[in-house]
Amino acid sequence: MERRGITTFMIQNTAEKSSPPNVGLGTVLLRGCRLRCPRCGQGRMFAGYFRMRPACEACGLNFQPEAGYYLGSIYVNYGLTALLLTAGYFALMFGTNLSDTGRVVVVGTFCVLFPLWFFRYARSLWRGLDHYFDPPAK
Ligand SMILES: [Zn+2]
Repeated sequence: MERRGITTFMIQNTAEKSSPPNVGLGTVLLRGCRLRCPRCGQGRMFAGYFRMRPACEACGLNFQPEAGYYLGSIYVNYGLTALLLTAGYFALMFGTNLSDTGRVVVVGTFCVLFPLWFFRYARSLWRGLDHYFDPPAK
């Protein structure tokens, strides 16, 4: 593993951040919702439901830049799940006549199924946000 001094890190980091993203934030988020490459919008990020492609088939953008890269997407997935769960719980509590057990079943089912469905979108949005805020050096 290469060890770098803080000065080298700061110089390289500044140089990388100085190259502006090639598209706007709205475009990057839209591409993320379509599970497409954040840079070109053409290549698909997933080859299967849970299997990511290593790189964009159209422009070559690396979809797996480092080990643990998508850890942040778990926070995106968890945050949205918790937000929707909270809103849904209160909607069920005040908007329906469901019993406590009924609410637990509905909310528990949502807690299992929604993160599985949203998994790909969370990763795609995470890759897009990283591409926008910290674009790769040219
Ligand atoms: Zn691409």
